[in-house]
This record gives sequence, structure tokens and C-alpha cells, in this order.
Amino acid sequence: MKLVYLDNNATTQPSPEVVQAMVEMLSTRFGNPSSIHRFAERAREPMEHARRAVASLVGCRAAELIFTSGATESIATAFHAALSGRSGGRIVTTAVEHPAVLENVATWHTRGFEVGVLGVDERGAIALSDVDKALDDDVALVVVMMANNETGVLYPVAEVAARCRAAGVPLLVDASQAVGKVPVDLRALGVDYAAFSAHKLHGPKGVGALYVRRGAAFSPLIEGGGQEKGRRSGTYNAPGIVGMGVAAQQAAQALADGAMERVAALRDRLEAAILAEHAATRVNGAGAPRLPNTTNVSFEHASGEAILQHLDELGVAASSSSACASNEQEPSHVLRAMAVPETHIHGSMRVGLSRYTTDEEVDLLLAELPRVVALARKASPFVATELPADYVAGGEAGRSYCE
Ligand code: PLP
Repeated sequence: MKLVYLDNNATTQPSPEVVQAMVEMLSTRFGNPSSIHRFAERAREPMEHARRAVASLVGCRAAELIFTSGATESIATAFHAALSGRSGGRIVTTAVEHPAVLENVATWHTRGFEVGVLGVDERGAIALSDVDKALDDDVALVVVMMANNETGVLYPVAEVAARCRAAGVPLLVDASQAVGKVPVDLRALGVDYAAFSAHKLHGPKGVGALYVRRGAAFSPLIEGGGQEKGRRSGTYNAPGIVGMGVAAQQAAQALADGAMERVAALRDRLEAAILAEHAATRVNGAGAPRLPNTTNVSFEHASGEAILQHLDELGVAASSSSACASNEQEPSHVLRAMAVPETHIHGSMRVGLSRYTTDEEVDLLLAELPRVVALARKASPFVATELPADYVAGGEAGRSYCE
């Protein structure tokens, strides 16, 4: 069976060049970069080359980057950096952030910080007038994602950053889904902190970076041996960092070569074909600016879980916004915030393409979908207000209902 990977917002396959560079680090450049001998030098040199490559991809100085274990750690570090010196204030964020942000918001709330949440409209967009209203003297940190992981919706980071600067409030941007897929220029955007992971751009897992604008408040979250100029202790993950550097170089090249325009065209073809074939289907986030690689479609009266399971049986990997399994009753907080109707919110499928995705792979998904969606409609455990003519109830006892 040919396996088709269309879940590139969850993670991406490391490119062959990334793997090759990492193997070289692991086999012949294994010295501890912090030591003083030539083994250390042989590890340090490619690592600092990688730092420059990542800095060039995201438009900052190499010295403004701290390598971490990934976006989750980078985000937690930025919260700590911005808030640990303060006794209180308000954190302003959006309703559609990744749990890596939302859980930190919850933690700092228990430490005495208030929380303001910016809602989104049905396209998933925030209103800049809401940002204006939220920014007052009491705000300690604003956290906004650059692109949403579920829908691909892009957020107006430059406009938010200008407002934060004018108000004297630090801004953390979760750039995890944007870096490598769209051009990112952190200095031009004027953000204070930005977090991202290598594995979202064909690099390795377990490595990422935190951008800290020169002059922005900082105190380390992880202390110890003083690596990264004391900003993030722990022996350098030199193979991971070098892999991230190669991934960054390749992503920059791919962006310059127009690879993401080709991905966008493929995504648009996929969306158009799905909408033409399946009645009463909606694209979540349509109408808002979006990443070139992402589509999130909701099939009416279908179970998103069933769609994914059937696709997986056919060798196609996608994902769902609707984590509505028997032990997890709530559909996606992102689709909820967008007020996706009850008829559609449980039947969502997220497809994440990459620059390696082929036309044939998209055709294979399109060929399988009609049968899969029909099965997923039968399997849907959700009460439909109006059942479609071809709807056949699943009928199994003990099924759980969402809501
Ligand atoms: N933020 C967003 C928007 C993401 O999509 C992800 C990964 O899914 C993360 C943060 C966390 O990244 P990681 O698991 O690599 O730390």
C-alpha cells in the first residue's frame, strides 16, 4: 500500500540533507561544543553556521536566537522572561492559540495575572479594534500566533506589534506554523519574542528557537551550565541545531524558488474538488488570509474521527480538529471560537501539504474521500438537527454524544 503523508502541520519529514548533516554531527562531530579542544571546535563551527541560517530565515541577528528543545519550551521561556519580574498585570491572547500558549496563560493566571482573550470571527480572524480596546496600562504581555495550526489562518502580527510598541507592551508571537511556509521578518515586524520548532519545516524534532529582540526583558527559565550565554543551560543539541540550520537554509531557498506558491495551488485544487464533490461542506477559515499548505474542511453530519480512521486504513494520514473520541468529548476550541455550526463542527478534517506533496497524492485523497465521508456520516454519533436524505444512523448503543 502506498502511504500518503498529509499531516504536515503536526510534523514534517526531515529532508535527506537534514538527515545527512545530522548523521555527520553524530558520527564525526560529536564533541561537546562548550569544551575547549578541537573536537568541540568541530561541533561548534557548524552549530554557529546553523544559527546564522536560522536567523537569516526569520530576519533577525544570530545573537538574538536561543536554541531550545522546541516551540513549547521557547513559549514557556518567553512567558517567564516577560512576566517573572512583575507582580501582576494582564495577559492578552487570542481564543485560538495552541495549548503550548494557553496552558502558560493558565499557569500565570494562577500566579496572579489577569487574562484577556480576543475572540475571532467566523473566518477565524481577530479584529484590530479589539486589540486597541484590550491594550491599556495594565497589560503585561500580549501573545498572538502568526498562523493557526488547525486552520492555517494568518494573524496581523505587524499591526498588533505596532500597537503593542505604541502602548509599551511586550509581544510574544508563536511563529511555529509560519516559519518556513511564509516569509517571516521578525525585526521588521517589531515583535519582542518569537517561538518556533525545527520539525515543522523538515528539520528534526526536539529542537527549536526563541527569538529575543535585543533589549527585550529576559531571564532564563532553565539554569545550569550557562550555555547560550547563560540564557538556556544544558549541553547543546548540536546535531539537532545543525539539522535545524539545514532545514532553515532549504526553506529559505524553497520560498525564494516559489515552492510554496505551487503548494498553495495544490491546496486550492484540493479544496475546490472537495467542495464540488461534497455538498454542504465548508472550508474553515476560508475568506481569511491563510498559510499556503493548510486546509480545514468540515463535512456536514460526519464524524471527523471516522474520516481519519478510514483514511488511515487506506494509507492516507490527515488529522482532525475534532478530538471527539469517547474519552474527549469537546471538539476543537479553535472551531468553537469560530462558531462553526453544530452540524459541521464534529466532521472536520485538516490536511497539511508540504513542498514534497505530489499531485498524485492529492488525487489519491480525492479518489478515496467520497467513500470515506459516506462511512463517516454513518458513523457520526452526533445528533443532527436535520438529517440529510442519505443519512443512515450508526445505531450502536452506548455511543457518546458531544454536547
Ligand atoms: N504552537 C503551534 C501553533 C504549534 O502548531 C505547535 C505544534 O504543534 C506548537 C506551538 C508546539 O510545538 P512543539 O511541540 O514542537 O514544541
